[in-house]
Amino acid sequence: MSFQQEVDKRRTFAIISHPDAGKTTITEKVLLFGNALQKAGTVKGKKSGQHAKSDWMEMEKERGISVTTSVMQFPYRECTVNLLDTPGHEDFSEDTYRTLTAVDSCLMVIDAAKGVEARTIKLMEVTRLRDTPIITFMNKLDRDTRDPIDLLDEVEKVLNIKCAPITWPIGMGKEFKGVYHLLRDETYLYKSGLGHMIQEVRVIKGLHNPELEDAIGNYAEEIRDMLELVKGASNEFNHDEFLAGELTPVFFGTAMGNFGVDHMLDGLVDWAPLPQGRETSDRKVESSEQKFSGFVFKIQANMDPKHRDRIAFCRIVSGKYEKGMKMHQSRTGKDVRISDAVTFLASDRELLEEAYAGDIIGLHNHGSMQIGDTFTAGEKFRFAGIPNFAPELFKRIRLKDPLKQKQLQKGLIQLSEEGAVQVFRPIQNNDLIVGAVGVLQFDVVVARLKGEYNVDAMYEHINVYTAQWVTSKDPRKLDEFRRKAEANLSLDGGDNLAYIAPTRVNLSLAKERYPEIEFHTTREH
Ligand code: GDP
Repeated sequence: MSFQQEVDKRRTFAIISHPDAGKTTITEKVLLFGNALQKAGTVKGKKSGQHAKSDWMEMEKERGISVTTSVMQFPYRECTVNLLDTPGHEDFSEDTYRTLTAVDSCLMVIDAAKGVEARTIKLMEVTRLRDTPIITFMNKLDRDTRDPIDLLDEVEKVLNIKCAPITWPIGMGKEFKGVYHLLRDETYLYKSGLGHMIQEVRVIKGLHNPELEDAIGNYAEEIRDMLELVKGASNEFNHDEFLAGELTPVFFGTAMGNFGVDHMLDGLVDWAPLPQGRETSDRKVESSEQKFSGFVFKIQANMDPKHRDRIAFCRIVSGKYEKGMKMHQSRTGKDVRISDAVTFLASDRELLEEAYAGDIIGLHNHGSMQIGDTFTAGEKFRFAGIPNFAPELFKRIRLKDPLKQKQLQKGLIQLSEEGAVQVFRPIQNNDLIVGAVGVLQFDVVVARLKGEYNVDAMYEHINVYTAQWVTSKDPRKLDEFRRKAEANLSLDGGDNLAYIAPTRVNLSLAKERYPEIEFHTTREH
């Protein structure tokens, strides 16, 4: 297969949804179709209790949320599909944001009994920043749901995207009979209790086929009338509008019953964009370029507690990874030879021989890689648009045993490289300030410091309004600022200069006093 054919068969997507809408369940079914799992039901520790080992994971399990982003690759039809799991809890929005920079499309899963929920709205806002194409799956049709027409209306109004129904449900709850596929003119009949496997679904060709009466009785006439209405009132699928993020194809089904999931997957394979290029500091890089390039969007520590390793997740933007190849790391200007990149299959990982634009590869990181790092075949550009957000909550972290300061600092810096929290080290004293976007992260940090670094730490209150990164076009002005404002300056985990403002007033005064200094609420890597 040629290089271009390999790239063209890649589809890289993430699932966005409100907690409990069915993301985990649909992931299991999708992997079942990909033959990645023999029997669905083993994706997360949350369900099976098989993989959750470390204290941190225990905590995740207790709280019933997923803190990690996993990457899964599986074949479907003629394609190689990469599915990136986004953490569900809103505390981790920053992580989620960066994950969404690494995909080319999203699957939006909606609980059809509930409709559009808060978290979905937020995630859609994020996808809008890059006009990511969205496929919609209305889930849980085996329950009593809201009226399908209302659901589409709500998506259109609240999320401001046109809906094009591809399948339409027949009945719901106990009376859920199946779906009619508007483009294929076929009815697929649902049987309950077969969700753990790939079913032989009965298909009836043609809406006016009398077989339909035999199969679903009065529902046949009802669905014919209904579809007249639906076709008149809704949008037709339009590929260009979909690719522009203006229209979403909508599928109905039940993830638990593994019904309708394959229709959605067919849509993904047929319509979702091929690997897309990305902007860099110099130029746009296209996926069709044969020279390797990629960026790190996530670092995850200690995924395997036995190995205590850290994995940098790298989205390949162009070219091909080959085992043993040399990569240029733009930030450090160094060349590194990589021969142990891994790929992910559900909970397992495998050593990679090669990977193509669109794929996500895992690089073993011994402290030399950071979120936002660009790797190339020698060119000096850096990929743009992978930000850190200024944290909103701050606490000073203290040791119970003061002799472990070194471990504490090391642990904090490593955790901050993952991007879940940020650490600030004031220039004038030995404090360590943890900054986070959500409260939960503080607990995660203490639990992980204990579990992974054997450090007992606790928090103290600290008066911080905000931390903002500071730069200046004029290096002399920056030096002067460094001297004069030293009492408020600190270095973050990556040694970037940040201004710690105790109050809002303090911040505006500093901005007034030093007009040639730029204050940033996000930091581009
Ligand atoms: P997540 O939080 O989005 O990952 O949601 P889960 O996949 O964990 O699902 C939340 C709950 O909804 C679980 O109890 C699932 O068994 C249930 N669920 C998921 N899909 C369906 C479905 O199609 N029908 C029904 N009745 N329940 C479902």
